[in-house]
Amino acid sequence: MATLEIRDLHVSVVTEEGPKEILRGVDLTIGSGETHAIMGPNGSGKSTLAYSLAGHPKYVVTSGTVTLDGEDVLAMTVDERARAGVFLAMQYPVEVSGVSTSNFLRTAATAVRGEAPPIRKWVKEVKQSMLDLEIDPQFSERSVNEGFSGGEKKRHEILQMALLKPKIAVLDETDSGLDVDALRIVSAGVNRYKEQSQASGEGVGILLITHYTRILRYIQPDFVHVFANGRVVESGGPALADELETNGYVRFTGAAAAV
Ligand code: ADP
Ligand code: MG
Ligand code: MG
Repeated sequence: MATLEIRDLHVSVVTEEGPKEILRGVDLTIGSGETHAIMGPNGSGKSTLAYSLAGHPKYVVTSGTVTLDGEDVLAMTVDERARAGVFLAMQYPVEVSGVSTSNFLRTAATAVRGEAPPIRKWVKEVKQSMLDLEIDPQFSERSVNEGFSGGEKKRHEILQMALLKPKIAVLDETDSGLDVDALRIVSAGVNRYKEQSQASGEGVGILLITHYTRILRYIQPDFVHVFANGRVVESGGPALADELETNGYVRFTGAAAAV
């Protein structure tokens, strides 16, 4: 069992005018096999939370703790976090010119697993995962994310998850900008990994960041959290997402912010 515990997390971003506090006391616990949806309006700090968990240098933790099975995640480097089993699918995946997707994936898998995966098994694994996600095999030879469409980038993020097999997966708006078909493929990819991880013992814990309820029809959350003004302001079951669909975030952000 893996447990990611976020306690009273405060994070500032470094701007030209100085530090600006974005996260204002986030509390959240994600266990193996659990899917947590975080829903909140634009600019509420969802991506800041995702980046902070992954260790992005631009985001400075000013107080609070993040632990994975009691280990201090905040003390770990970006690489150490990945090796510990924390994965981030970015809202805006980065293009890496001159690095082929296949090299990138193998390098990442080698870093996370601590040794290079045996080549034949690896090739088979990548091929199958690409097939599952309906990614053209030719993508292997293309530079990472370069010229990929929005949907292709998101599928590539899920491909990484499937191959890196994290304990905790943070999916930051993996649904944004997807048409219905791409949403179905991406969601099926997430559900497939969920099932595989469950079958091999320890189910992945998922933090699914979104601001639409749409994806939650495909990926069933166990818990739904409302995120506003840099923290979790309400938690509940799947019914909370239905309430948000009907009423929006006004109740949580105040009337002024909704205008
Ligand atoms: P969300 O993902 O919920 O839309 P973000 O975490 O992207 O929210 O942003 C939260 C707030 O922090 C916004 O007001 C945004 O402008 C600000 N912010 C985030 N990253 C930076 C940055 N690198 N520099 C300046 N401001 C930032
Ligand atoms: Mg946003
Ligand atoms: Mg965001």
